[in-house]
Amino acid sequence: MSDIIHLLSDSVANQIAAGEVIQRPASILKELVENSIDAGADSIHIVFREAGRNLLQVSDNGKGMSESDARMSFERHATSKIASADDLFNLRTMGFRGEALASISSVAQVELRTRRENDELGVQIDISASKVLSQKPISCSKGTTILVKNLFFNVPARRRFLKSDNVEKSHLLNEFYRIVLVHPDIEFTLYDGEEEVFKLQAANVKVRIDQVFGNSRKKMNEQLLSIETENGLASIRGFIGRPEFAQKNSHQYFFVNDRYMRHPYFHKAVMMAYSQLIPQGENPFYFIYFEVDPQTIDVNIHPTKTEIKFEHEQAIWSILSATVKEALGKFNIVPSIDFDVDGMPQIPSGNQYVKVEVPQTSFNPSYNPFSSSSGAYKRPAMDWEKLYGGFESGLNGSFPEGNTDDPERFLLASEYTSQTQIVDEQSADGDYFQLKNKYIITSVKSGMLLVDQSRAHLRVLYDLYLSELQKQKGFSQQLLFPERFRLSPEQQGFYSQIEQDLKRVGFEIKRMGSDELEIKGMPAQLHSAGKIVDVVTDIFNTTMQASGNVTDAIQQQIALSLAKASAIQSGQRLTKDEMSDLMQKLFASKEHNHTPTGKQIMNIIGLDEIQNRF
Ligand code: ADP
Ligand code: MG
Repeated sequence: MSDIIHLLSDSVANQIAAGEVIQRPASILKELVENSIDAGADSIHIVFREAGRNLLQVSDNGKGMSESDARMSFERHATSKIASADDLFNLRTMGFRGEALASISSVAQVELRTRRENDELGVQIDISASKVLSQKPISCSKGTTILVKNLFFNVPARRRFLKSDNVEKSHLLNEFYRIVLVHPDIEFTLYDGEEEVFKLQAANVKVRIDQVFGNSRKKMNEQLLSIETENGLASIRGFIGRPEFAQKNSHQYFFVNDRYMRHPYFHKAVMMAYSQLIPQGENPFYFIYFEVDPQTIDVNIHPTKTEIKFEHEQAIWSILSATVKEALGKFNIVPSIDFDVDGMPQIPSGNQYVKVEVPQTSFNPSYNPFSSSSGAYKRPAMDWEKLYGGFESGLNGSFPEGNTDDPERFLLASEYTSQTQIVDEQSADGDYFQLKNKYIITSVKSGMLLVDQSRAHLRVLYDLYLSELQKQKGFSQQLLFPERFRLSPEQQGFYSQIEQDLKRVGFEIKRMGSDELEIKGMPAQLHSAGKIVDVVTDIFNTTMQASGNVTDAIQQQIALSLAKASAIQSGQRLTKDEMSDLMQKLFASKEHNHTPTGKQIMNIIGLDEIQNRF
């Protein structure tokens, strides 16, 4: 019997390789543009038609190729970029496998035109399915143009596998973004047929981000905070989105040594830094650039894979996390150090930067600061009730009047109403001004500070409830009629993880079979926080998505439900004292710039801006 093993022909071998490297037009765009960058181009022009399936062309003004290099470049494993295995660990070029041109030309019709600066003539090579059709001298400008036509014309199964033009186009764009964001110093244009999609002048990173994702309505650079850190392991630079600009779909990019990468673990570090600053389900954008010693990462993995292994992953995670938190923190703190102290009556400053103390007294629904009758005040028996008793004001008439001078009295929602009706505004100090019963206005050093009253109060209450929840066990209040809660399949599996915590904060819950809960009691203070089924649903949603500790997530969600139920609303009139009280408490919060769900609480209109109006 004769031998049966033989070597594959080059074109078959190339096609097999192409199966891995070239999946769609976007892969070609990536390979060609990376070659142009490696060739030192500072101007790269891309044109595609029909989402690249029929035509994709990349032209550059890079160093070009000699005639023999041009021919050689289509051979498999032909590369000018590495010579030995050692070079693999010091990669600074985008490509190195010498596979791309060979692969592309095995599954399409390719036309290459190239000329080096000092050569009089360039060369044009036409190849179709790995076969060289022609090679001739031409006159052309310096650099290289590669035109790829009829992708997969000889592999119909793969051509059919391509998605709709819209999908392929979005792949092209994504690939384009990943490249242009790391090469702001290179000028790029992108044309869809005759239509200009992008014309990006050389710039710096921040401007490039704005060129790509901003528009006249949405200036990106106003939405970005810069981050920067450097140490022995890595340098991390870039921009993260201000929390209030988070959206459902945000652009999120990591790059390492000028390469796009995906890194779910680092992603988590960023997301955790934002937790509490942005609403659930929304994402901040980020553009984060790592520089590390190439020896400490493994890029010699599959060419289309974008996940990269770091040797010091854990340490870099911590650095990243701290850096992002610091940037968010700095940004958060700005208005508080900005207060105009000279010339203005001061905001009582004793405890501006001190955390809110837990109030020692209860709320009195009919509290009247000017009333002379001051009955004996009885503290409710339990701490919980002490704090939240006021919420049940409508039901609970047992509070006597008075206790007007308790300095630590905490203003609750309904107190505002009762006071507002009776306080003589003339007697207040004039420090604060309320606009449309919605905003509190005061003067600060750099201009005029505007505070959204309802958001401010939400933050104050949230902090208070949260610290209370963290301190002690909640008290359960029995429901008159137990409520049933039907568990979704995901909730069924998850319930055991939060069961203990729910009980600790005061829920009394019995599991009925696999898909139902019976809620017999709940934290007393949650009474006013809306439908119990909604509250429990919210708790599930938050905790199932929570990246950190489940206990924290439950407490945060409960604090939020409570705060939402009791915060003062827009449209409620406030006295100067109430405003001053609220502002003091707000500025005692570490997070006074944002509500627990990331909405902006305050805004400064700068003096410049005001002067410009005159
Ligand atoms: P790799 O980029 O991994 O080296 P490719 O198949 O992509 O492999 O390219 C093969 C070689 O062709 C490159 O090493 C480079 O020398 C040359 N080349 C490809 N594209 C260009 C270009 N646009 N300008 C100059 N040289 C190029
Ligand atoms: Mg290449």
